[in-house]
Amino acid sequence: VPLVELRDVHKTFPAARGGTPVEAIRGVDLSVEAGEIVGIVGYSGAGKSTLVRLINALESTTSGSVRIGGREIADLKERDLREVRLGIGMIFQQFNLFRSRTVWGNIAYPLEVAGVARAEQNQRISDLLHFVGLADKAHSHVDELSGGQKQRVGIARALATEPSLLLADESTSALDPETTQEVLSLLRRVNRELGITIVVITHEMDVVRSLAHRVVVMEAGRIVEQGPVVQVLSDP
Ligand code: ADP
Ligand code: ADP
Repeated sequence: VPLVELRDVHKTFPAARGGTPVEAIRGVDLSVEAGEIVGIVGYSGAGKSTLVRLINALESTTSGSVRIGGREIADLKERDLREVRLGIGMIFQQFNLFRSRTVWGNIAYPLEVAGVARAEQNQRISDLLHFVGLADKAHSHVDELSGGQKQRVGIARALATEPSLLLADESTSALDPETTQEVLSLLRRVNRELGITIVVITHEMDVVRSLAHRVVVMEAGRIVEQGPVVQVLSDP
């Protein structure tokens, strides 16, 4: 079974006072196989973020089916839903790190929430710090880090619960070109060495070109094109 499978998914947000309902997602079919890197591109308002929030079960569908690892999200009880969410890591444009915590403390956070034993936490955090190349920054405060270092902490934190899927929402948009390349090569290692499936949302075509195996183009809540990057995107 695909790791992620959406079938005829619709998401309509109710009308704000005096307005009309917003059909953010209008009949999306999407499969993501384990081990893939899929890029989702499209203009602002196309529905990319909503799609991601449906995949990690932060939003529920208006109609249609969302399956993660073959399990229908809408049918899951709170306990199973928590398990599914632990299997999905997220990274963000603005990193969303805790300023009051050290690098170590940020990576520890999801493990504390998940109730992972302290010895196991320490082992995982230490391994992750080495993996992302920040072993010497364990006790630094987040404010002391560069943008690229912050996103590497974000990636380590997202990987702490050993997810099978990583969702990256405009994860390099706040970074300069050189730092973007650093983060992209780390994401490639996450995919290749850890076998983690990655879905990247971005408006940056270069990011998709250099990272994704497959690209999905969204427009006004629909997928208007998808396929291998070389097939969908023209040469620069
Ligand atoms: P993208 O990520 O491609 O920019 P979004 O998924 O954020 O697109 O938004 C798609 C559409 O849904 C937009 O018209 C947006 O205004 C609307 N939308 C997104 N979230 C909400 C919400 N919580 N309530 C109402 N409308 C929303
Ligand atoms: P806080 O959560 O108060 O911001 P820290 O971010 O420093 O604290 O760390 C979170 C937890 O991880 C604390 O309980 C701390 O003792 C522990 N910790 C921090 N660094 C290490 C380390 N290098 N080895 C083992 N445990 C650590």
